Amino acid sequence: MGVASKIQEQQNLGGSAFARLMLARYHPPIMKMATLLVVFSLTAFAFAQTGAASKEVETVYPQAHELYVALHQNPELSAHETQTAAKLAARLRSLGYEVTEHVGGTGIVAILKNGSGPTVMLRTELDALPVEEKTGLPYASKVHTKDDAGNDVPVMHACGHDLHMASLVGTAAVMAQSKNSWHGTLMLVGQPAEETIGGASGMVKDGLFTRFPKPDFGVALHVGNNLPAGQIGITPGVYNTNADSLRITIYGKGGHGASPHTTIDPIVIAARTILALQTIASREVKPGELAIVTVGYVRAGTKNNIIPDQAELGLTVRTRNEAVRKQILAAITRITKAEAQAAGATREPLIEQFEGTNLVFNDPALAGRLRAPLEAALGKDNVITAEPITASEDYSVFIEQGIPSLYFSLGGADPKKYAEAKAEGTNLPSNHSPFFAPDVDPALRTGIAAEVAVLRNLLR
Ligand SMILES: [Zn+2]
Ligand SMILES: [Zn+2]
Repeated sequence: MGVASKIQEQQNLGGSAFARLMLARYHPPIMKMATLLVVFSLTAFAFAQTGAASKEVETVYPQAHELYVALHQNPELSAHETQTAAKLAARLRSLGYEVTEHVGGTGIVAILKNGSGPTVMLRTELDALPVEEKTGLPYASKVHTKDDAGNDVPVMHACGHDLHMASLVGTAAVMAQSKNSWHGTLMLVGQPAEETIGGASGMVKDGLFTRFPKPDFGVALHVGNNLPAGQIGITPGVYNTNADSLRITIYGKGGHGASPHTTIDPIVIAARTILALQTIASREVKPGELAIVTVGYVRAGTKNNIIPDQAELGLTVRTRNEAVRKQILAAITRITKAEAQAAGATREPLIEQFEGTNLVFNDPALAGRLRAPLEAALGKDNVITAEPITASEDYSVFIEQGIPSLYFSLGGADPKKYAEAKAEGTNLPSNHSPFFAPDVDPALRTGIAAEVAVLRNLLR
């Protein structure tokens, strides 16, 4: 990939911003003052959207909000978003969009053609998570369902995809009623199964860019408590991380716990392997590079006096640099095999990769181009340059199909609570938490205003 140098440049920028942040932490009085200023400027935010943008949003907001509540109360798990997709399809059809359902499973594609011009894609996810909602909201989800393994699980829109969908439909309404302000083809995509990584590739395999027009540009957003509602964050270049999941099976030779000399103990090999894996980030990767190697589970054995035949480890690896990613995956293989060999195992460990995805790379030129229209719609102070995040997301699949994109952050935090948490040095509940509850009114209004501004600029 020719983006390696851009990635490096990006990381240097991120580093200096981080250093400034750290410096700020050592000056509590200044920090307090800054917090007061933040509170002051944030409370004024609701009126920050410029007149024309906010008037347009108000015409579609009641319906968008009603849809948000309906979606929030009826969340569905990944790849099972049938009611969700049907709701979206019905709304978009009534707005005049040509809607195709069941694209790559439960995915939907809605097209609005408006003369000649570019094709621009706006994407939302459809799925919710197996989380029990504890927000105490009057419209909190009480839904339970069976997961794919047959277990009864609670379901919650704990990642905010309900807000993304409501925003997309609100945006769709504004665009449909203002066709004199843009031309080209608007393509709205409702993607299933983002949380399990697979929905985006499923839609592409089902002809997303062959049965439908291939977009010249792509746009998506994600709500989170890392920014106050009313603001959006642009991250040019690297936006998040590569994610690799690994399952490692270590083979030993089982036997009696009282006769270890007749066995090859896979638990001891697993223990040594786990510790040795920790040296990859600390001893092998160049300091300063993002390198996360987490062993999330260890499974072995049934009884205290039995040495089992095998042990299994589950890993997640997060990186931002393709070379570092390759280096880490190679080191995991080398260390795992060598530890087994050192213990005299007669069979090589099995290393399997699953649920992997590449990082989302925001086209820097596009990010630069879209800043001005976003500032015009939201107010200059409400568009900030944000640092890359450590999560992952399969929107990267669309970018790899050759679609330059902007994936931006939408502030979801109650501005007052955000400022208080900053002052106290605490964090508000993150996405996937049972307490995750975006400050809907400002966040949803901002999402619609931002999407409309971006689409109009790209569909000139
Ligand atoms: Zn999520
Ligand atoms: Zn999400």
